[in-house]
Amino acid sequence: MSKKVQRIDFISACPAINCNNLSKNEWSHRNCGGKQWLDEKGIVECKICKKNAPLIGWKFRCKGHSDFRETNKEKICEILSISSSIEAANLKFKSRLLRAVANMIDDEE
Ligand SMILES: [Zn+2]
Ligand SMILES: [Zn+2]
Repeated sequence: MSKKVQRIDFISACPAINCNNLSKNEWSHRNCGGKQWLDEKGIVECKICKKNAPLIGWKFRCKGHSDFRETNKEKICEILSISSSIEAANLKFKSRLLRAVANMIDDEE
């Protein structure tokens, strides 16, 4: 039996380093403009071109900066835990996502 990986629309405060913009952003892919999914394994996927990568390797640009910046690994779990689109998903999704992202950060170090 295959279990479907849950995913949600990726909407959050900006996860980039040195950015304090807390307003919610619906992220889009710089190459094609597609909006993005975020799944419970912490993978971001473009809805149009299907490019996907771990959230912590993705780069972000918001109204606060014109350059694409790396994810702030110290802040990312906090940002995810207060994201409204993640609040709206079920509790299991949220705990799986936070665990997956924390593991990714652990594995990197
Ligand atoms: Zn794309
Ligand atoms: Zn930002």
